[in-house]
Amino acid sequence: MSNIAQLEKELATTRRLLADKETVFDNILDSTLAGYWDWYIQDEYEYMSPTFKKMFGYEDHEIENHPDSWQRMIHPDDLSYVFEVYNKHVSSKGEYPYDNEVRYYHKDGSIVWVYCRGKVIEWDEEGNPVRMVGCHVDITKLKEAEQTEIYARELEKRNKELQQFAYVASHDLQEPLMTIKSFVELVENEFSHQLEEEVQMYLKYISTSAKRMSSLVRDLLEYSRLGKDRTKLEIDLAEIIRDVITDLKTNIEATQATIHYEKNLPTLEVYLTEMRLLFQNLISNAIKFRHPGVAPQIQITVEEQEKQWLFQISDNGIGIAPEHRERIFVIFQRLHNKSEYEGTGIGLAQCAKIVDLHDGKIWVDSTVGQGSTFSFTLPK
Ligand code: ADP
Repeated sequence: MSNIAQLEKELATTRRLLADKETVFDNILDSTLAGYWDWYIQDEYEYMSPTFKKMFGYEDHEIENHPDSWQRMIHPDDLSYVFEVYNKHVSSKGEYPYDNEVRYYHKDGSIVWVYCRGKVIEWDEEGNPVRMVGCHVDITKLKEAEQTEIYARELEKRNKELQQFAYVASHDLQEPLMTIKSFVELVENEFSHQLEEEVQMYLKYISTSAKRMSSLVRDLLEYSRLGKDRTKLEIDLAEIIRDVITDLKTNIEATQATIHYEKNLPTLEVYLTEMRLLFQNLISNAIKFRHPGVAPQIQITVEEQEKQWLFQISDNGIGIAPEHRERIFVIFQRLHNKSEYEGTGIGLAQCAKIVDLHDGKIWVDSTVGQGSTFSFTLPK
């Protein structure tokens, strides 16, 4: 074979190998969804791979291969940072890594977080950069997960602070309240004969308000303590209901209430005191919010569902209008004044917190004048 023929053969082989390598390279980029860029700095030309453009929602032909293109798509706050890193990379002759996490705008207006790594691979004789190549990886999902985690941690911290605040405030408020109550009593007892009727009436108001505030504060304290420093135990829920019914015996007898519940209730891992309080609040409300002169009929059912247990407590009481069905679960929210029905409005807020502590959900369905069904779920 002549020399020329030999050279031509070698050239063909080299070309084939090169083409093969390019295909492999393109396939790698395609399958990793990484974007590749190749910047001829002094010529103001920059090749951007179709995957680079696809990351931001564009077809290859929609974006010109020019550095201005990405500089227009990048978040303006991050552009100056990119140049800062670039300048450090160039002035350190490539020692300082060109590495950054930046935001780009997607065609649809959303933010795409990109991890970008690059390197100057060619310099001119004066030491100026000639060519730089790099890769882009979409890290939006990672960033979102990170943000959610930061948010959840922040929320947990705030929640703890709030719990702490509620605990301290309610604990410390009890003392001045006690002082008010005892001084009012003292004035009433010691000076009652010297006081005008009007003044006595005012003292009564003060005393009633102080008592009410004291029970609100006590409730708040109890509420803030729910689930605190306790551990879950395996408990037969039928046992809890039996105990609650025993505790409410006087009330049940006085109102001639009947309570039906399934004897085969599940045994679940729960906070004992809290679970008892949950049933106690729901059953005592079912008794309390009855029609005057009508014996309460209460039905407690449980249904095993795929991933959870559904508990329902139904009554034949006064019912709740649709517009109030969410706010009744908020602390101290009541629909009646205390002369109609006793209470501070903490019961359902406790229920909501307890169900939440067990990762369940609580809601109410009701027909005004006919009764209500409180439902809650506990995961399996
Ligand atoms: P409280 O019982 O101290 O008023 P709750 O938080 O237990 O506080 O209940 C909030 C409000 O929800 C009650 O004031 C009442 O208006 C309404 N409610 C609760 N349970 C029932 C029920 N079973 N039937 C009708 N209304 C109810």
